Amino acid sequence: MCQHTVPATMKAAVVPEAGKAIEIKDVRVKRPEELAPGECLLKMICTGVCHTDLHAALGDWPVPAKTPLIGGHEGVGIIVAIGANTGNSPVKIGDRVGVKWLANSCLNCEQCKKGREQNCEHAELSGFTVDGTFSEYVVSYTNHVTPIPEALDSYAAASILCAGVTTYRAIKYSQTSLGDWIVLPGAGGGLGHLAVQYARVRGLRPIAIDSGEEKRKLCMELGAEAFIDFKECKDIVAEVKRITGGAGAHSAVVTTASSSGYTQAVDYLRPGGTLMAVGLPGKAGLEASIFFTVFKSISILGSYVGNRQDAYEALDIAARGQVVCKYIMKDLQALTSVYDGMQQGAVAGRIVLKF
Ligand SMILES: [Zn+2]
Ligand SMILES: [Zn+2]
Repeated sequence: MCQHTVPATMKAAVVPEAGKAIEIKDVRVKRPEELAPGECLLKMICTGVCHTDLHAALGDWPVPAKTPLIGGHEGVGIIVAIGANTGNSPVKIGDRVGVKWLANSCLNCEQCKKGREQNCEHAELSGFTVDGTFSEYVVSYTNHVTPIPEALDSYAAASILCAGVTTYRAIKYSQTSLGDWIVLPGAGGGLGHLAVQYARVRGLRPIAIDSGEEKRKLCMELGAEAFIDFKECKDIVAEVKRITGGAGAHSAVVTTASSSGYTQAVDYLRPGGTLMAVGLPGKAGLEASIFFTVFKSISILGSYVGNRQDAYEALDIAARGQVVCKYIMKDLQALTSVYDGMQQGAVAGRIVLKF
């Protein structure tokens, strides 16, 4: 059923135990005839690296990942096999598809039927509850892989599958209208630089918060209307208010890991404003003033990655050239040093590993 000869083993980056160093080693590839109905085997082209992969490897989240673990959830590959007796597959052998954080969901529970597939209690997560994309071959699920638009290069598509989908959905549900101000803390990073662009596509006026000349330049080039350097600015709340003519911003999409980013947002949002929480810090709490949250009619919402439709939409916008992911290409072998760089906050844009 498959023209492609699947090798017996593949190179993969394996986390042997939570907190232990990654090992790049040969791992057995699941045989096409062993695929269950609904499963597909992908020959990978590339994969992005996300902060979540680092959390999974370190095991510092309240929920632990499986071990041994192959991380990764921003992968693009070609389908080389589909499990026998797969009914009604929306994809076929030879299709170029993406693997996102949400590897699979039941599609039949209340959450799935309401479009919150990511909240399905039977959800499988790439590089967390099932092996992810840091390997030359990946087993995924026909219902949940995302077809990559022909106009979009695989490397440019990779990080749209997590960083792009996540920021796209957060902005989509940020309760904003054309011409509204939106504050984007961490705007020069992997998620943030995509958020700036999706905000522009939606007709919003982004205020980027980050630090350093390189990130300032990047944010302004991508369409931010103002940049606040958090290391130089003494009063971020006052500065956001000044930029927005005194009233404050309509929305903030906060992707950062520190709780201060969330607390500040309640202060610089105008009445009726919306705080979208997107980052997933393991421990930080939300210490917003209840008084001002009520008094200013502030909405505090959480937005968790995205469903299949969000992934199609985020990729479609990128395929039309309206959102471009800035990335640096590396080999799978470089993953350990990539994690080191992430822990030091030294990664501007995104890292994509090629196979
Ligand atoms: Zn991610
Ligand atoms: Zn479900």
